[in-house]
Amino acid sequence: MTVKSYIEKVKDEVYKCVHCGFCLTSCPTYLVSGQELESPRGRISLMKATLESQIEPDEKTFQHWDRCIQCRACEPACPSGVKYGMLIESAKNGMKEVKSNSFSYRFIFNLIINLSISKWFINLNSTIFRIYNNLKISSILYMLKISRILPSKLSQLETMIPKVYGSPLKSGQFLIDNSKFKIALFRGCIMPGIHGDNMRNTVKLLNYLGFDVEVVASEVCCGSISSHNGDLENTIKLAKHNIDLFLDDEFKYLLISSAGCGTRIKEYYHLFDENSEYWMKSKSLKDKTLDIYEFLYQNIDQKPNRVINKTVSYQPACHLLNTQKVIDEPIELIKMIPGIKFVELPSSNICCGAGGAYSITQPIWSKKVLDKKMNEFNSIKIDVMTVSNPGCFIQLQGGLKMLELHTEIMYVTDLLYYSYIEGEN
Ligand code: SF4
Ligand code: SF4
Repeated sequence: MTVKSYIEKVKDEVYKCVHCGFCLTSCPTYLVSGQELESPRGRISLMKATLESQIEPDEKTFQHWDRCIQCRACEPACPSGVKYGMLIESAKNGMKEVKSNSFSYRFIFNLIINLSISKWFINLNSTIFRIYNNLKISSILYMLKISRILPSKLSQLETMIPKVYGSPLKSGQFLIDNSKFKIALFRGCIMPGIHGDNMRNTVKLLNYLGFDVEVVASEVCCGSISSHNGDLENTIKLAKHNIDLFLDDEFKYLLISSAGCGTRIKEYYHLFDENSEYWMKSKSLKDKTLDIYEFLYQNIDQKPNRVINKTVSYQPACHLLNTQKVIDEPIELIKMIPGIKFVELPSSNICCGAGGAYSITQPIWSKKVLDKKMNEFNSIKIDVMTVSNPGCFIQLQGGLKMLELHTEIMYVTDLLYYSYIEGEN
């Protein structure tokens, strides 16, 4: 199949775009470049030109599509309701097909995708980053001024090497007496290995609030990494596995604490033909899938009462804001905590440049977007920046490291955990 044939599947969405440009100022890559071809409208124009055989998309075209962070901020900004997420995924499926003609690309792509969706990934990334942190390699590179002479892409990647918090979260049942009902908590691939302590805090918080929790051993990657990179085949395989697993009546809800995974799972139905068996099943799974903050906001019947005297802000995850529309819940939960002074981050609706694997695949563009975000950090005085997604956590932590700022990064669930369970921190 050609790129054109993939875009043809979503051509109605392409022709919905009336080129009004209302989406431009919501697009982080347009904001940092001012270039039309780095905007949603420009990227859609390239798709239209492909459809109408005005261009044969080449490496340059692919570059513009690849530079899209897939933050989907252009969707809520669009008066015509263009489903941009579907467009860019289709274009990338086509790109992958073309690039797969090269043996080396196919080999490297399959290696990376298969590694990142494998069961070993959680322990592997946790171990690699733990060793890196423990040996203080970053500080040594900085002291010896080696970081200054590294190529900019490499030095940017080095800054983004995350800190590891605790051992990886293992699967298992976390049961309590007199539970209200049982929840499946989705582990995902990044959080359990790198932010194991946070996930344990989330489990304890859910138990404390009266819910049984299970982290299911046989869950697989949600499929975001594959679908963002145009690998439809693996995405469907992973989706079918998770759909069958989590539709089990034992779980009243499937809770997600990583926004990207939540959007992928809630949109599994995009992968299947309407009214087919798995389309129906994925719709049922969507109905029982909630982001952790949606769930907490709807289900807590006691407010946190321990005081945290800190000035706190919040950077929303794009996939909570733009696709799941979980907008106010995390902020309302933060404001429930006594002692907290909440300060809004200017342009908090603009992506921080994390975007799944974007900071690895597009380190230069990711840094441009991050730099803009960090300038805004400097304009507010806060003790803690809260986030709702591991990608944002790692990205902002890297930004703080670059600026040598000492603002703490925390998940909203961590803050709630400290207020409900651990007391004043
Ligand atoms: S998804 Fe984000 S980066 Fe991509 S075109 Fe839309 S706003 Fe721009
Ligand atoms: S706002 Fe919508 S219709 Fe207007 S240019 Fe952007 S995508 Fe096209």
